[in-house]
Amino acid sequence: MPLNADLHCHSIVSDGLLPPAEVVRRAHANGVEMLALTDHDETGGLAEARAEADTLGLRFIDGVEISISWGDDQTVHIVGLGVDPANAGLLAGLHHIRSGRDSRAARMAAELEKVGIHDAYEGALKYVGNPALISRAHFARFIVEKGHTKDVKSVFDHWLAKGKPGYVEHAWATLSDAVGWIVGAGGTAVVAHPARYRLSRAERDQMFAEFKALGGEGVEVLSGSQNADDAAEYARVARHYGFVASRGSDFHGPGESWIDLGKLPNLPDDLTPVWARWV
Ligand code: AMP
Ligand code: MN
Ligand code: MN
Ligand code: MN
Repeated sequence: MPLNADLHCHSIVSDGLLPPAEVVRRAHANGVEMLALTDHDETGGLAEARAEADTLGLRFIDGVEISISWGDDQTVHIVGLGVDPANAGLLAGLHHIRSGRDSRAARMAAELEKVGIHDAYEGALKYVGNPALISRAHFARFIVEKGHTKDVKSVFDHWLAKGKPGYVEHAWATLSDAVGWIVGAGGTAVVAHPARYRLSRAERDQMFAEFKALGGEGVEVLSGSQNADDAAEYARVARHYGFVASRGSDFHGPGESWIDLGKLPNLPDDLTPVWARWV
């Protein structure tokens, strides 16, 4: 049996719903054998998660999911796996990206006000676990609470996705920054959920080529937000570029995720799993 590795998920340290130790307990209960916690732009949950994983005898990988801007205002996520959470360059870089989130949230709230969603900044803050990091997911929970729509996904469809009234452009890190911070911290850089980006074929190829040239090594072939066709497509990408393949649920919390921790299909046999370097 292949290892049940889940190398992408979130806790309340970013925009997940569960504390880090609870994420680990749930993963263990679901049969996960190797887990990476990959909070957005933040490593503050890793110590708690690792301690719980050690107690349970679950193999734990220190991770992070870094927000970058690429090309024409495309937001792309780069997962770092096996990073040293104490690395000064990584910590400084993540601190810098997080610091832009407050002013972005204020601009989002001003746009939402114009379409009749009032006091969204204060409302979103009630859902924030870590005061340093306010995300669109926290706004989405508040907008559902106010009864504007039924669930988080439809909030994105109506207000928060690119092109919708509450979306504001924002400069995240660069691809070069993110890969540099991850590799500098001893980690492996992986392109997260590649099927979610609205890139032309040429743009996509350019992004993967740049990523590889910068020292990027992997791609999420299996993600909670990707289907079987996507998996086949990104398996081809992995073969073409010689990338290792990753597998991650992108779990955020019960009732708010595509799939639960550890509930993913297996990677195609011919691909090299990223976790081969840690077993
Ligand atoms: P941010 O980093 O503040 O731009 O927030 C992005 C987060 O919003 C993602 O990590 C997801 O947790 C959530 N998100 C983005 N798009 C969607 C969507 N279509 N449905 C549900 N959640 C989404
Ligand atoms: Mn998220
Ligand atoms: Mn992501
Ligand atoms: Mn994620």
